[in-house]
Amino acid sequence: MGLIEQIRDAGVVGAGGAGFPTDRKLNCKAEIFIVNGIECEPLLRTDRHVMEQYAPELVKTVRAIRDSLGAKRAVIALKEHYDQAVDALRAAVKGTKVELYLSESFYPAGDEQNLVYCVTGRVVPTGGIPLDVGCVVSNVSTVLNIAHAINGQPVTEKMVTVGGSVANPVTVSCPIGTPLSRLLEAAGGPVGDCTYIVGGPLMGKVTDDLTEPVTKTTGGLLAIPKGHTILTKKMEGARDAMLARAVCSQCSMCTQMCPRNAMGLNVQPHKAMRALASGNDSLIGDVNGVFSCCDCGICTYYACNFGLKPSKAMQKAKAKLIAQGMKPVKEVKYEPDSGIDNKRLPTERLLLRLDLKKYDKDAPMGGFVDCGQVRIPLKMHIGGPDEAVVAAGQHVAKGQLIAKPQGMGANIHASIDGTVTAVTEEFIEIRK
Ligand code: SF4
Ligand code: SF4
Repeated sequence: MGLIEQIRDAGVVGAGGAGFPTDRKLNCKAEIFIVNGIECEPLLRTDRHVMEQYAPELVKTVRAIRDSLGAKRAVIALKEHYDQAVDALRAAVKGTKVELYLSESFYPAGDEQNLVYCVTGRVVPTGGIPLDVGCVVSNVSTVLNIAHAINGQPVTEKMVTVGGSVANPVTVSCPIGTPLSRLLEAAGGPVGDCTYIVGGPLMGKVTDDLTEPVTKTTGGLLAIPKGHTILTKKMEGARDAMLARAVCSQCSMCTQMCPRNAMGLNVQPHKAMRALASGNDSLIGDVNGVFSCCDCGICTYYACNFGLKPSKAMQKAKAKLIAQGMKPVKEVKYEPDSGIDNKRLPTERLLLRLDLKKYDKDAPMGGFVDCGQVRIPLKMHIGGPDEAVVAAGQHVAKGQLIAKPQGMGANIHASIDGTVTAVTEEFIEIRK
């Protein structure tokens, strides 16, 4: 069986993003293969642990992917201060032509388009993908899943950092479908009355529902004390438009600090604020610029001194354009900013501004978290939900196929041995 079929059978999807099926992404020819081990969001530790623990397997797999893509270069990118991961990878790449790219610690260093620019100097066009400039980018956990797929093992586990206001920050592996509450237990529980962020502090999703399951794309669980500024900034407020009208001075600091704007993509959040404040959508500026926003949140979490939320205005404007059937035009209209290097936002400064520095702690590997009951979502990828191929009452073994895609999607496998206790349109539940 070829590599692409092995990846498809194993149900591998992009572990660091929206869950794009990896067999589709890698079924092409490209000039450069880039592995993203940068860990875009602060406070998370998953990527570095994967690289520390599995460096030889990763490098072997990167070479197989490079050959499959017919790529001239293969580059593993990580932050220069991940000392142990750097050492492990330096040893593993010796004698191979796999390169390492060591990045400074800034946000959002791990944004796919930023990474392509840093490694190659090329700008991915609006509405485009890295392949438009000859590159394919995969997250380091995705590459690890491909390594397992080559050995015939499907995706059944996920490595997750549990941090923030918890007793003992930790990084654990767990079966897919494990409830978030089980991860929290592994970290000794929350300290104080907390709300939770699934993912990183900036782009993660706020929840109070700890029965939610770990999916193929879950990278982190952060406990954040109620009332913390990061939670307030993440909330969509009924008063956002009124505040934009009353407070936004159109100073354009949000645009000046926007990393996508610095790449020449004409992203102008101050114009989205102007449109929101006036209720006049025609003032949003360059439509392509709106589509190029990656929702990194720098404009909201760092740039705006008035506590406004330009990133929310951008997301609103983008949703309206999509609803109107508008699509981006593939182009890079402007040159990257000549001062782009000086515009980068050091992660440390961002954490201090957001009062999150106190949570920037080691989250050492805590082994495998076992789970007696899992609820495996049928949609953990781009595309529609999968179709279950098992029924309630049926016994399944770990690794057994339990759902198949209908069109775009990826295979889903049982993450524990047990009996199927429920099959709905949204999930399959298995009890040990
Ligand atoms: S949203 Fe804030 S940073 Fe942006 S233009 Fe308005 S006041 Fe300035
Ligand atoms: S969220 Fe703000 S800073 Fe980030 S890309 Fe969008 S407009 Fe730019």
